[in-house]
Amino acid sequence: MLGGLENAQTQTVETSAAEDSLAMFVSVVLADTEEVWAQIFENSGQTYRQPKLVLFSGQVQSACGMASAASGPFYCPGDEKVYIDLSFCNELKNRLGAPGDFAIAYVIAHEVGHHVQNLLGVLGDVQQQRQRMPEVEANKLTVKLELQADFYAGIWAYHAQRKFDILEPGDIEEALGAASAVGDDHLQMQSQGRVVPDAFTHGTSAQRMKWFKKGWDTGDPGAGDTFGRGAV
Ligand SMILES: [Zn+2]
Repeated sequence: MLGGLENAQTQTVETSAAEDSLAMFVSVVLADTEEVWAQIFENSGQTYRQPKLVLFSGQVQSACGMASAASGPFYCPGDEKVYIDLSFCNELKNRLGAPGDFAIAYVIAHEVGHHVQNLLGVLGDVQQQRQRMPEVEANKLTVKLELQADFYAGIWAYHAQRKFDILEPGDIEEALGAASAVGDDHLQMQSQGRVVPDAFTHGTSAQRMKWFKKGWDTGDPGAGDTFGRGAV
């Protein structure tokens, strides 16, 4: 069990019956992220605002523009919604070679990590800074943002385990496998057969695993300064 469903604000768009159990799983993970982050925010005297979840297939209109299954899961700060295309979950398993429920949980927790960054003002700061930078520098800043979202996914896993005892043997390896599979170097190798570090926007497999693991090992939301000098 992953915890209660009662907090999930889920808006499902035309999912097939076959996707229902996956949709249920995604909703439960989101509800768990809400419990964990509400507590963490409360501990520092802040109030957590829950993101909404939009499950879609095909195309979807967000405040950040039109998106399709090809864009992968994303978070839109404009409407504070996490968009998950259910076909991505199958893709994670089949094309990226990262099977397992917890791999999907990691992806959701990563997107919720962006929501946390939005609430903390980090996302807005980075977006402003990016506009004044050459592309290569802007990409480096984006990598730090992405690695911090991976760190927050690890923070979620740490606290969710203590609250709900959700993990089965091999789950952390599944999450690390997913973090590794969506590393820029891995994706570039798969799509174009070579690695172009200047075009990285999410970090290497090793970096992504490292920051997820740092969150998982420490459980300390303050230990995720990926923006510090030499941090990544
Ligand atoms: Zn991201």
